[in-house]
Amino acid sequence: MTDPCMTINGLPVPAKATFEVIDPATAEVFAQAPDCGREQLDLAMSSANAAFGQWRRDDDRRREALRSGAAELYADIERIAGLLTLEQGKPLEDARMEVMGAAYWLNHFADLKLAREIVQDDENGFAEVVRRPLGVVAAITPWNVPVTLAAWKIAPALRAGNTMVLKPSPYTPLSTLAMGEALARALPPGVLNVVSGLEPLGAQMTAHPVPRKVSFTGSTPTGMAIARTAADDLKRLTLELGGNDPAILLDDADPEVIAESLFWGAFANNGQVCLAVKRVYAPEGIYADVVEALAERARTVRVDAGTVDGARLGPINNRPQFDRVAGLVRDALAKGARAAAGGAPLDRPGYFFAPTILADVSEGLAIVEEEQFGPALPVIAYRDLDDVIAQANSGPYGLTASVWSPDIARARAVATELECGQVAINAHGTGARPDLPFGGVKHSGIGVENGVWGLHGFTDVQTVVSPAIPQR
Ligand code: NAD
Repeated sequence: MTDPCMTINGLPVPAKATFEVIDPATAEVFAQAPDCGREQLDLAMSSANAAFGQWRRDDDRRREALRSGAAELYADIERIAGLLTLEQGKPLEDARMEVMGAAYWLNHFADLKLAREIVQDDENGFAEVVRRPLGVVAAITPWNVPVTLAAWKIAPALRAGNTMVLKPSPYTPLSTLAMGEALARALPPGVLNVVSGLEPLGAQMTAHPVPRKVSFTGSTPTGMAIARTAADDLKRLTLELGGNDPAILLDDADPEVIAESLFWGAFANNGQVCLAVKRVYAPEGIYADVVEALAERARTVRVDAGTVDGARLGPINNRPQFDRVAGLVRDALAKGARAAAGGAPLDRPGYFFAPTILADVSEGLAIVEEEQFGPALPVIAYRDLDDVIAQANSGPYGLTASVWSPDIARARAVATELECGQVAINAHGTGARPDLPFGGVKHSGIGVENGVWGLHGFTDVQTVVSPAIPQR
C-alpha cells in the first residue's frame, strides 16, 4: 500500500506526523494515516477559500466536474472499497456498494438545479429570491459509512458552489483520503481538500475563521460541542446525529413475511447505522414468533472478516464501540433479558460480536433507552398501541422509525404520530435517498441532507428587488 496522503489544493500531501489505523477484523494496526498539523489545516482552508471565487461562478463546470468525479470513483472502486473493508470491517461487497452510492450521489446532484424563485414579475416591479453559496464548508464524518456520508456532503455543497475541507473519523481515514485523491483528478485545485487526524483536528476545523458552515455527521454529544463552537461566529450548521429508531409492529403483521426486511433494517452494516432499527415493539399475540423469526436469522447469518467471500456481517468497527455494545448486552442479560440469539463476543481475534436478539426485555433497560449502534436488538412486547407510540416518542432522539402492517392506511396513521425525521411503512430506512430530505428532530439533529432541501442547506438566500424588467 502506498503511503496515504491528504489532498490539499489538488496535491497529495503527506503529514509530518502519523497515527495508527486498526483492522477491526484482527484488532491489529495495518496502516499509518497522516495526522494533519495546524499549518496544513490553515493551508487547506486558505486553498478552499481561494478556489471559491471562481468555482461559485461556473454552473456548467460544476456539473461536469461532479460527473467526472463520479467516473473517477468508479474507476478507483477496488482500491477505495478495499481500504474501506480493511479499516471499517464491512464486507467487500457492501464497501463496493458504498463507493457506487457515492458516485450515484455525485451524478444525482450534477443533474439538480438551484431553481430561480421569482416572486414578482409584472409592470410594477421584479422580485427574485436567489440562492447563494456560503463559501468554505467544514465537513466532518463518522466511521460507520464514511464514503457515502462524505458524498452526502460533497455532492450538494459543491453543486451549490461551495468549496470544502473534509475530515473523516480517525477510525476510518483511508477510504476518504483515497476518495479525495480520486476526486482531485476531476476537480479544480482547492475545491475539495481532505485532511485526516486525531482530535483536536475536528475542533480546530469548527473553530477556524474561514468556514462559513459546518456540516457534521456523528454523535449527539459531539454535535452539541460543535454547535457551541460554531455559535461564536454564527457558522451555519447541519447536524446529523444519533438515533434510537423504533420499529412498531401492528397486530396484523405476519412475522414470517416481515422478518427478513426487519432483520436487515437492524443488522445491515452490523447495526452501525444511524437509521438502523434500534428497538422492536411487537404485540403480545405475535411476540414469540417475531423473536424466533429474528433469532433464526441472527443465528445463521455469516459473520466473518469483510475480506472473506460470503461474509454478510463483519466485526464492530472499534474497541470502544465493541465494549459499549458488550456492556449494554451484559447489563440487559443481568437484568432479566434473554438472548434468543447471540449474547456475547465471538471467540476469535478482532471485534466480533455474535448477532444478538434480546427477548423478555423490560422497560427502562439501557439498551432500550440508548443508542446501541451495534449488532444487538431488543424486542419489546406490548399490549396497548397508544403506550407504544408514547414510548417510541419518549427519549431525546427522533431520527427514523417504521410501522409494519398489511393495512397501509392504518400504518400511515400510526406513522403520523411519531416524532422523527423519517418514517417508513413495511421497511426501515428506505427513505435515505438522494432525492428525499434526511435528518432528525430533537437531539437527532438540525437541518437535513439530500434532495433540494439538502442542497438549499448549503446556501443563503438573497432577495433581489428591482423596477420592472423591460421585455426583451
Ligand atoms: P463521533 O461524534 O465520535 O465522531 C464523529 C466525527 O467527529 C469524527 O470525525 C470525529 O473525529 C469528530 N470529532 C470528535 N470530536 C470532535 C470535536 N470536538 N469537534 C469536531 N469534531 C469532532 O461519532 P462516531 O462515533 O464517529 O459516529 C457514530 C455516531 O454517529 C452515532 O451516534 C450515529 O448515530 C451517528 N451517525 C448519525 C448519522 C445521521 O445521518 N444522523 C449517520 C451516521 C452516524
